[in-house]
Amino acid sequence: MPFNLPGILAPLHLLINPRLVLPSVVVKDIRQIDFQALHKAGYRGAVFDKDNCLTIPHEDCLVPELTDAWRECRETFGPGNVLIVSNTAGSHIDVGEIEAESVTHHLSVPVLRHASLKPSYSCIKSIRAYFRSLPQPVRDEELVIVGDRLLTDVIMANRMARKKLSRGAIPPDEKRALIEERDEGSGPALLDRVGPLAVWTDGLWKRESLVLRAIEKGMLKGVERWVLGPQEAAWREGLQHRFVKPVSVVEEPAESRGLVRRIWERLQR
Ligand SMILES: [Mg+2]
Repeated sequence: MPFNLPGILAPLHLLINPRLVLPSVVVKDIRQIDFQALHKAGYRGAVFDKDNCLTIPHEDCLVPELTDAWRECRETFGPGNVLIVSNTAGSHIDVGEIEAESVTHHLSVPVLRHASLKPSYSCIKSIRAYFRSLPQPVRDEELVIVGDRLLTDVIMANRMARKKLSRGAIPPDEKRALIEERDEGSGPALLDRVGPLAVWTDGLWKRESLVLRAIEKGMLKGVERWVLGPQEAAWREGLQHRFVKPVSVVEEPAESRGLVRRIWERLQR
């Protein structure tokens, strides 16, 4: 795991704003995400973490179990509107951008090149620059950000939230109307803020950083218990209901599958 100063400093930011660690939606893995419901609700772009979200850590191929969900995601948003932002592939430790090229080849979507790791503001700037450069630019609040780490992926998504414009300041185009309509149903909680939908995948394809993950979960539980009001909890419950498919995805972790099966799966790719 690379040395990640922005990630190490993130807990300090939580002292000021503990809600930053709260995901909007929690899924086991991306098979439970209802991409069509997200698109219908006005989301137009998706940012995915790589390691332990789409691939086994430090591997470049999609986890085979995710093949159908990944295809559905790319077809729903369009290939250019799905971006991988990883703290390994495409980051400064990916010398020669070899891993980024390989991941793009295997997953058929671009990998963001960024000098500073998630959840830094510099990385956020690079994500915004990418989505603004598309033929049909995508705004922060039209993004879904998916990842398996609360202190990097989820905090980064929540850091992108900003104060909502007053109703009078919003141009009456169809796209904004859709976003407004979506946020109207969100209840008073994040009421004055709009930003990406933070989706946390809490299933692991390979066990790693278990102590750090336990600390993250402890922080989340503390914030849910001591900071979250009933209205906000109900709002999150509503998002969960709208955007999570009620499908069971209990799978054995990849590392516990037999060697023969893993070799067979590799040959099939
Ligand atoms: Mg990850």
